[in-house]
Amino acid sequence: MEARQKRNAEIYVHIPFCVKKCAYCDFFSGAYDVEKKAAYFRDLNAEIRSFGKTDAGDGPANAIYGPADAYVISSIFIGGGTPSSVEPERIAELLESIRETFTVDPAAEISMEANPGTLNKEKLAVYKRAGVNRLSIGLQSADNGLLEMLGRIHTYEEFLENYRAARAAGFTNINIDLMSGLPGQTAADHENTLKKVLSLSPEHLSCYSLIIEENTPFYALYGADASALPTEEEDRAMYRATKAVLQASGYERYEISNYAKPGYECRHNTGYWTGVPYFGFGAAAASYGETVDGTLHREKNACALNYRRLPKEEVEDLTPEERMAEFMILGLRMTRGISEEEFAERFGTGIDTVYGPVIEKHVRYGTLIRENGRIRLTEYGLDVSNLVFEDFL
Ligand code: SF4
Repeated sequence: MEARQKRNAEIYVHIPFCVKKCAYCDFFSGAYDVEKKAAYFRDLNAEIRSFGKTDAGDGPANAIYGPADAYVISSIFIGGGTPSSVEPERIAELLESIRETFTVDPAAEISMEANPGTLNKEKLAVYKRAGVNRLSIGLQSADNGLLEMLGRIHTYEEFLENYRAARAAGFTNINIDLMSGLPGQTAADHENTLKKVLSLSPEHLSCYSLIIEENTPFYALYGADASALPTEEEDRAMYRATKAVLQASGYERYEISNYAKPGYECRHNTGYWTGVPYFGFGAAAASYGETVDGTLHREKNACALNYRRLPKEEVEDLTPEERMAEFMILGLRMTRGISEEEFAERFGTGIDTVYGPVIEKHVRYGTLIRENGRIRLTEYGLDVSNLVFEDFL
């Protein structure tokens, strides 16, 4: 009998535990006691192990995307929250649950988020043994005053110590998260952070501008009065400095906010932007992929620790129009853009029949380039990407 072809998929696992809540954060995360954590990990492992089973026994089953053995897992991302704030054995255990349930590609990228102040030699050794091969460390800024203002639990010096420990433990693929546009931050502060971080030569950098989210202490402070935030012009100066300094140092900007040394683009995120199915485990984690009857389906676990006993949220089957819009918007986030041929293959129609006038308009505006069978954002288009994306909706 001919073996069935396995499909590629990615896995995201959400660990919602942090030492303390940062003042700007609206993720589902927080400080919880030992019992709550233990119960959460019991649920999380059970959820992973019940994937694709119609009768999971101890919670709602998930037969939507078919059996686990229909997939090969090309990347795993353990995010949060602060996965490095829990006992490292928890991380090893859940990777074991994944490996015992799914076929994981031996070359899979296995990333884990970590925060400075929560790493040490012993933990790093456990992650390494468990197969974690990429660390994503949230630094945000090298300025201790700004870190304190953000409500972060660490100083720059603690970050340095943790970063060096990760290198010593053999991690050769490290991302550092940075933020700009912070209250009181100047372009000089940000450039100083970039300079310090570049001297460490990480493989990857994610650089985001602060967004003031509702229901955060920052919203109460700056939601109505933005005068303490950098001006639009200062914010743009930081954005331009990020681009210029990183590109001059050999990092390729492969996505609007992400820069990597050659060969170190984050495979997990690239999969997300290019439509690879993903399965999310844990509170607030989303899943996306083809159902057993061929519908493209998305759903999200409830944002609560007892998510397994609550209904799924944002459950939707995507219409062909929504699938096309997503293909364009997510694909254009990447600087290499989208392939016209791939669009035609996926949707059975030429891209011009659907988006001809929109593409033409943006080529005229200088926000899109169309060449060699691909469409991508120009430098200017990357700066105003949200305005371009609106036209594809
Ligand atoms: S460490 Fe990250 S997830 Fe946790 S509160 Fe801070 S920003 Fe949010």
